[in-house]
Amino acid sequence: MKKNFDNAISLCSVTEEELELINKYSLTELKAEDIFAFNVVLCDNEIDRDFECFDMASLKTLSELYIGKTGILNHEMKAENQVARIYSAEIEVSGTEKNSAGEAYARLKAKAYMLKNDKNMPLIDEICAGIKKEVSINCAVSEIVCSICGINVKKERCEHTKGKTCYHILRNPTDAYEWSFVAVPAQKKAGTVKNFNEETAEADNARYIEIAEKYKSFLRQEIVKLSAVISPEISAKSVENICSSLDVDALEILRKDYLQAEKTKFRPQLSPKENESSIDGFKI
Ligand SMILES: [Zn+2]
Repeated sequence: MKKNFDNAISLCSVTEEELELINKYSLTELKAEDIFAFNVVLCDNEIDRDFECFDMASLKTLSELYIGKTGILNHEMKAENQVARIYSAEIEVSGTEKNSAGEAYARLKAKAYMLKNDKNMPLIDEICAGIKKEVSINCAVSEIVCSICGINVKKERCEHTKGKTCYHILRNPTDAYEWSFVAVPAQKKAGTVKNFNEETAEADNARYIEIAEKYKSFLRQEIVKLSAVISPEISAKSVENICSSLDVDALEILRKDYLQAEKTKFRPQLSPKENESSIDGFKI
């Protein structure tokens, strides 16, 4: 699948340690002045225009998969189009900003380098001038999960409609093929088009938040129901209070733990005594 990211590129300088990393990919010893380096944001955990998002674990996996990967022009994997290479990548988590699902906003930021040669100079000029600022990644994931029912829609269909009632969470990246500079059509920068985009972006954003809220409320209800079975000594009100302070990630984990506890509790071979101890052992 391909994912685009606008305003992805910013300039950076190369430290001595980074030069060492870069030289691992080079046959000849490169010096700082031979290299043009830049930061590139490859993707984040926000719900995108296709109503899909990566989760934190996927971003982490992608950050490992993308090291050493080549940057090309317009997704054309010809040798002459291979212009840049990623030499380091990390996840940046915002301390203040949240994504539409209410989780901390996180993005995969990589560092890439290009050789300062005649062939690359026009592209370097375009990057410096802010003309080339959009990138697109091409990767594969093994799971695409519905945000409401958790079904892997790669394997089976569910009753929810992406973009209307749910969004899809991209999980377990298996491959990162390459990343690409995308030619941004000139009209996209025109003021009127830009304003139009901003308006739809706002409407999209409101819808994302609504979908995310529905999902959280589904998780909370599930947890209250499960808790009534697993730990009836804890009042529904207390469980609701606990859930109200949790974000989507924490709610998903808690629900999973409860489902696991439910399985353990109702294993037929367990004696009632063992059952009790399994309840005591389960704490939220
Ligand atoms: Zn579904």
